[in-house]
Amino acid sequence: MERETRRADVVIAGGGASGLAAAIELGMKAPALSVLVIEKMPEPGRKIRATGSGRCNISNTDAAGFSRIMEFFREIGLVTRTYDNGLVYPYSESAADVATLLTERAASLGVFFACGEELMSVRYMPASLVSDAAPGSKNIFKLESVIRDRDGLRSIVTYASFVILAMGGKAGPTFGTIGDGYRIARNLGHSIVTPVPALTGIECDEWDGGCEPCGITLGGTRSAGVVSLYKDPEEVFSEETRVFGEAGEIQFTKYGLSGICVFNMTRHMRYNRRAGESLDQFLVRLDLFPDGDIAAYIRDRQKGCFADTPAGEILRTVLKEPLADYVIAKADDGPDENGRSLADRQLSSLSDEEVSKIADCVHALTFHPSQIRGWNDAQVTMGGISLDEINEATSESLLVDGLYITGELADRDFRCGGYNLSNAWITGLAAADDIAL
Ligand SMILES: Cc1cc2nc3c(=O)[nH]c(=O)nc-3n(C[C@H](O)[C@H](O)[C@H](O)COP(=O)(O)OP(=O)(O)OC[C@H]3O[C@@H](n4cnc5c(N)ncnc54)[C@H](O)[C@@H]3O)c2cc1C
Repeated sequence: MERETRRADVVIAGGGASGLAAAIELGMKAPALSVLVIEKMPEPGRKIRATGSGRCNISNTDAAGFSRIMEFFREIGLVTRTYDNGLVYPYSESAADVATLLTERAASLGVFFACGEELMSVRYMPASLVSDAAPGSKNIFKLESVIRDRDGLRSIVTYASFVILAMGGKAGPTFGTIGDGYRIARNLGHSIVTPVPALTGIECDEWDGGCEPCGITLGGTRSAGVVSLYKDPEEVFSEETRVFGEAGEIQFTKYGLSGICVFNMTRHMRYNRRAGESLDQFLVRLDLFPDGDIAAYIRDRQKGCFADTPAGEILRTVLKEPLADYVIAKADDGPDENGRSLADRQLSSLSDEEVSKIADCVHALTFHPSQIRGWNDAQVTMGGISLDEINEATSESLLVDGLYITGELADRDFRCGGYNLSNAWITGLAAADDIAL
């Protein structure tokens, strides 16, 4: 196989969010260093282009390192807008603009991009064994990468004094992240906390036949509400076992539940299959009327002008039609002596017990998760390179001098709202600042 050899002071493996931030920072702070970004996709920043549904929620006023991140974006000329809830976006609300700006800024600072090139392995030896090692470097790294093109496979060897592993996790594999960084880091002596998909939807047992629980299609319905997660290996699920609760827009999809509050919930659903644990220890409850007491609402209307109104119709005054129909079908024990369903019965005919049952279904609609959606749907990876082995302030490996680990590749994940990109920017900047010292 044909083999090229080249050198760079710093190799950044992965031209995603953290890799691009590091590349620019190095270009600005250490212009004398040669910087090479090895990116397996045809262009850098493919995932950045998809973030925030194409709008790129770049940061959050609450994120760690927020002012440093904003200073960086000001320096490279990105105009941003901050919403009242603290979420920060590029002023153009275009994620593609952010990726293009980062790439062009890095290139203008002399950073070299090797796109369409896949890093396969990294090894190192003490710099003292190499006669022409860069001053200050403790190790010399040997990186092997390949280019697959029409002519076949080309192998390239790169020697570098510093390596930044910025290869992301496993979430969103179509953007180039399939977990390559774990294998490379493991071979360098690092331990990996088992990666699992997070910030994603869940599939539920109750989704009979895929999308039609009780014969009612909920897929496509959205509702404001509060999602709560209960965790109990004994499956008792008392109030004390509630481990998560968040208000937001719940999206009922063709497979189960989605929406930002559901995404955030999945960060609390880590379990160890190898130790015999399963998703049975979790239960999800939705409060679809968190601002009021639906039982009181119904009882108020059992007398007066709504007394003859069918119960189903009353429920539709507070819930979207498919959801109202689903909830009342769930609360229904079967037709009355006249063959009428609970939904069709006049409000005045409902017993206290029936009203309470409807209220239970509205305030605590229960679902049993059967599956957390996989990597294709996940926005982030839970797990990764153990934080015990990384210097938090500099992103440098505590095991290998001159090796840096940034972004999602490390065992750090955050809720939705710009925190994950913030982590990528700030860890990339920290690595670059440490190398530039
Ligand atoms: C659809 C979607 C939307 C999101 N929206 C937001 C949002 O709005 N706000 C937010 O804060 N977070 C968001 N995130 C999360 C955020 O994008 C990531 O946490 C962040 O991009 C991680 O940055 P990173 O530098 O660690 O890795 P990435 O940005 O994933 O970059 C890693 C790079 O490494 C490259 N690579 C991998 N293996 C190799 C190899 N062997 N050789 C060479 N290159 C390699 C990949 O091709 C990729 O370009 C979103 C994620 C997804 C999937």
